[in-house]
Amino acid sequence: MEMPRPNPGVMSDKARIIAGLRAILPDDAVISDPLETRAYECDGLAAYRCTPLAVVLPRSTDEVAGVMRLCHAMGVPVVPRGSGTSLAGGAMPTADCVVLGVGRMTAVLETDYANRLVRVQSGRTNLSVTGAVEADGWFYAPDPSSQLACAIAGNIAMNSGGAHCLKYGVTTNNLLGVTVVLMDGRVITLGGGHLDAPGLDLLGIICGSEGQLGVVTEATLRILPKPEGARPILLGFAANEVAGACVADIIKAGILPVAIEFMDRPCIRVCEEYAKAGYPDCEALLIVEVEGAPGEIDEQLSRIKAIAARHDPVEMRESQSAEEAGRIWLGRKSAFSAIGRVADYMCLDGTIPVNELPFVLRRIAELSDEYGLRVANVFHAGDGNMHPLIMFDANTPGDLEKCEALGAEILKLCVAVGGCLTGEHGVGIEKRDLMGVQFAAADMEAQMRVKDVFDPKWLLNPAKVFPLAVTASRRAG
Ligand SMILES: Cc1cc2nc3c(=O)[nH]c(=O)nc-3n(C[C@H](O)[C@H](O)[C@H](O)COP(=O)(O)OP(=O)(O)OC[C@H]3O[C@@H](n4cnc5c(N)ncnc54)[C@H](O)[C@@H]3O)c2cc1C
Repeated sequence: MEMPRPNPGVMSDKARIIAGLRAILPDDAVISDPLETRAYECDGLAAYRCTPLAVVLPRSTDEVAGVMRLCHAMGVPVVPRGSGTSLAGGAMPTADCVVLGVGRMTAVLETDYANRLVRVQSGRTNLSVTGAVEADGWFYAPDPSSQLACAIAGNIAMNSGGAHCLKYGVTTNNLLGVTVVLMDGRVITLGGGHLDAPGLDLLGIICGSEGQLGVVTEATLRILPKPEGARPILLGFAANEVAGACVADIIKAGILPVAIEFMDRPCIRVCEEYAKAGYPDCEALLIVEVEGAPGEIDEQLSRIKAIAARHDPVEMRESQSAEEAGRIWLGRKSAFSAIGRVADYMCLDGTIPVNELPFVLRRIAELSDEYGLRVANVFHAGDGNMHPLIMFDANTPGDLEKCEALGAEILKLCVAVGGCLTGEHGVGIEKRDLMGVQFAAADMEAQMRVKDVFDPKWLLNPAKVFPLAVTASRRAG
């Protein structure tokens, strides 16, 4: 993975930059000792690492604005960071950057049930947004599997999704407003406690902008009343293609489950060994969850069972209690940790049209054989968001490169069948060099011009999203 050469001027100015940061922030909010900054050298894409120049941990929008003004004036790149769980390398530092972490900005600023919203500082974790309102019967719908750790800041930057986004949509569908600090320190507010805003949809541009346009410090989020109940059913099948066809049939029938999750045999086996969730010995497994009033749940599940029965399932297990539901979800929720226990892995994130699932799974199996690397598939099948997990051995020379090449083939396949490079994890550095597969030069130029407007000096997270060769002249200033 190529990264730009650090700016020698910035590197040699380190002492002055640190002194400037210390003049703005309390002592404990500036980290410059290389032993301590090392904790920030990577995110969830741990194959790539680089220790930053410094890390700052502000507590307020004003402190963020002060840091941005200083970095802008001194020409220092800034890499915004939430909890560092990005699987695309979005929060990976460069050697000449200041990492701006919002992890200390966790306050709930406003709770307004009449208008179904909550306003939080952006460092608050996803799960603790629900935690702040669930006692009153509310929840925040987007639910990345990393929700215990990941921050709303990162969710907004990556437009994150999760298992339940089939029904509730992804972050952008649940985001009402943001406060953003621009690279030169100006503070802007987009959207607010209401639906839509007059003027251009800049909120839509910020959501999914991967820390390229500004630092989000506060967010107004849509909250929803908790559903009366939810129940998953576990369906086992004799072949991936059959499970894929069952997913397509459920969607075609006009049923909208809250989640349809898919696991293939390699994934089922590893998860079962790890979580002991009682999964059947089969080629492919679906977890389909529906929710609503008891009658509604029964009616939806009986339709789903009738569709599944047409595909000769080897197992059909409907949960009858909260404990059984928990066990059905247990393996799926611990899939990434389970795979991480047996191998190094890279988690891909392409989307495909749902009806292409059987073909794409077959082709991934062929590619896995060709490259000699195991691939476990676990993904949000209802909306065609695939997460092939390529297993490799970081200690075997050449294995990482082989893994990267296989990953690129799989993502190109997703684009070729009418899908796209990323469903919810973002481009980061992982898919940066594949952007040309998805976009024509003119498309990319239009996107880069948006960055030109927000960040004319290209100081914010500058080595991400767009291929380095395409951005070289802009980054050079
Ligand atoms: C085990 C595991 C499971 C996961 N499951 C899912 C899943 O189901 N769905 C899903 O969508 N993702 C998933 N992810 C990926 C990851 O958790 C999400 O992308 C998440 O939104 C990242 O949040 P974060 O706070 O960790 O962001 P970080 O990793 O810190 O940063 C991510 C990006 O956001 C930018 N950023 C961070 N803070 C700000 C800010 N204040 N302003 C502007 N930009 C900012 C960064 O520069 C970077 O580009 C998973 C990750 C792991 C490790």
